[in-house]
Amino acid sequence: MGNLIYRPPFEADSLLVEATCGCSHNCCSFCTMYKDVPFRVLPESQVEDQLRLAAEIRPEADRVFLENGDAFVLGADRLSQIAEAIHRILPRVSTIAMYASVLNIRTKSDEELRELRSFGINELNIGVESGLDEALRRMNKGYTAEEAEYELYRLRNAGIDYSANLILGLAGAGLWRENAEATAELMNKTNPSLIFTGTVHTEPGCRLYDEIESGAFVENTIGGYLDEEECLLHHLTLDYSFFFGLHPSNVVRMQGYLQRDKERLLAELGACRNRHSAELDKKPVRGQEGAILGE
Ligand code: SF4
Repeated sequence: MGNLIYRPPFEADSLLVEATCGCSHNCCSFCTMYKDVPFRVLPESQVEDQLRLAAEIRPEADRVFLENGDAFVLGADRLSQIAEAIHRILPRVSTIAMYASVLNIRTKSDEELRELRSFGINELNIGVESGLDEALRRMNKGYTAEEAEYELYRLRNAGIDYSANLILGLAGAGLWRENAEATAELMNKTNPSLIFTGTVHTEPGCRLYDEIESGAFVENTIGGYLDEEECLLHHLTLDYSFFFGLHPSNVVRMQGYLQRDKERLLAELGACRNRHSAELDKKPVRGQEGAILGE
């Protein structure tokens, strides 16, 4: 296995199987995850070696998360081949999840998407980030909100569930309301099973870090993040999606079902606003993984 392994927090119990290294896009303005990792595809034999080892030490595994940054970039033939090997070597596996991007969906036909679903490929984790074109363009995501809506619709139409990663504040301080409203609209139209929120946090080595340092990108204040998240929640009309806001970079770490827990989530934002009334106009001071306030 390579050294750099990322996975969503809710995949903690999944069997991690490396199918690719790095990220095929590797140029989002805020991201340094795979900055020094050239993208490559692992040979079939190396994937099968991992599966055979897993069969010895975790034969009961029922869920696989394919690594790395966007394993769904693999062609439908290759993904089908990997899924066949997983089911042959680890027969209890029912779900094969992975990171994917909107761009990865575009390269697959509707028929291929349906076929991949029939092989157990499901519950993709997609860094949608925002529904506002201005933010998507500035962050170099490579698609517009309309294109994301179209591809995510095709995915859902093929029966493949997805969870959406969103970055609050991605349009900057001046556009927090527009970002929240456009992102809620995209979520409402594409119906993710889970929404995973974080806020803008960068490390040296990416364009957004330099832009924040130089003042070219003005980050939300702590109060601005609360306003944006409140606005997003207000506009989300999804009925059964899980709102997963436990990433350390969030001003308030909270989670719950939409719509069932929406009022409670909004109340938690309001309570935080009251507790930190003296800090609302301040810029966040970040710690590990972008942590703020230490809530
Ligand atoms: S955010 Fe995701 S798609 Fe963008 S460069 Fe990082 S890993 Fe790749």
